[in-house]
Amino acid sequence: MSLNIEQIRGLFPVLHQEVHGKPLIYFDNAATTQKPQAVLDALTNYYKLDNSNIHRGAHALADRATRYYEETRESVRDFIGAGESAEIIFTKGTTESINLVAQTFGRRFIGKDDEIIISTLEHHSNIVPWQMLCEEKGAILRVIPINDAGEILFDEFEKLISPKTKLVSIVHASNALGTINPVKKIIDAAHKVGAKVLLDGAQSTSHLMIDVRELDCDFLAFSAHKIYGPTGLGVLYGRREILESMPPFLGGGEMIKEVTFEKTTYNDIPFKFEAGTPNIADVIAFKASLDFVNSLGKAEIKRHEDALLAYSEELTRDIKGFIPVGTAQDKVSVLSFNINGMHPFDVGQMLDANGIAVRTGHHCTQPLMKRFGIEGTVRASFSVYNTKYEVEKLAEGIAKIARFKN
Ligand code: PLP
Repeated sequence: MSLNIEQIRGLFPVLHQEVHGKPLIYFDNAATTQKPQAVLDALTNYYKLDNSNIHRGAHALADRATRYYEETRESVRDFIGAGESAEIIFTKGTTESINLVAQTFGRRFIGKDDEIIISTLEHHSNIVPWQMLCEEKGAILRVIPINDAGEILFDEFEKLISPKTKLVSIVHASNALGTINPVKKIIDAAHKVGAKVLLDGAQSTSHLMIDVRELDCDFLAFSAHKIYGPTGLGVLYGRREILESMPPFLGGGEMIKEVTFEKTTYNDIPFKFEAGTPNIADVIAFKASLDFVNSLGKAEIKRHEDALLAYSEELTRDIKGFIPVGTAQDKVSVLSFNINGMHPFDVGQMLDANGIAVRTGHHCTQPLMKRFGIEGTVRASFSVYNTKYEVEKLAEGIAKIARFKN
């Protein structure tokens, strides 16, 4: 059954506006997706009807807010196929989730001369926390190289991995190019040498079916705002026995069992990693985002997004001066490109003048841009509410801009 895109668009108030006198065409979905009305309603309803701090409350509002908060945890568990909701930790986003692992798992289990493997495709948030850890501990960061299409060289990965490898932290789908990494193969190879694997799922969780038990990953980090959910909220999935072996991240309320001035005992997971009053409203609203995705079906969403990507590639392929960046076989719906003789930012501004929102620059992947010998790209990223007509307008815009210099 194919999706009714017009009906879906009707659920997103933000899409129905003009920008610079032109109907908005929103192609900046890899940066953040728009939010359906149900998510906005869940946010306001929480503040209108249920606003209360959670856990330990002795009144009806606290009970309700706690129940809704924990219901989202269960929805997330189901969404990624985790075995139990205690393995789901709410954070501020992918960035915080990765930093949490670096500061707790990393500090406890990674030492001098141990190795951490990442790839050339990583977002800065999956580079810098490991560099900080390596600097502190004397550990070594290894980087898997890529080919000109933007795909990791698996043979090179096999050469890097050894009993010294303690962690492989790798992006599931690249935000800058769209490349989908062969994560199952990577996880299996890492486990053979006893290394743990963290998947950066910031770009994959909204597009791909994810089952953490089938993948057998040890950690999965992602952000709600890229799955039609609120900003400032993320998830860290971790395998129970690993989370239990890790020290806490932040100290404070909620994460303790008992505090005395002599000794504090810590709470069970997931609360051990959720110090202080959490982002209650956004957690509660996130359930509406997941319900939205589930109501359409991820496979249907992917089919639609893949069709938009293929159409955009077909319409732009022969434009003189159009330079695609990242041509992997297996991609999420990201069209990254440059126009010969033009700065990406100028291209972005010209598209914006036509109401078309894209992202330009290094996309927080400076080492990746360096690998391609470029400063940045223009990135159009497609979502379930985008249409073929919008893709045609993008291709028209690109062709018009390319004619200036080519
Ligand atoms: N990793 C990837 C692949 C991303 O695309 C992003 C955000 O763009 C992040 C990590 C960081 O996510 P956040 O800024 O939501 O923490």
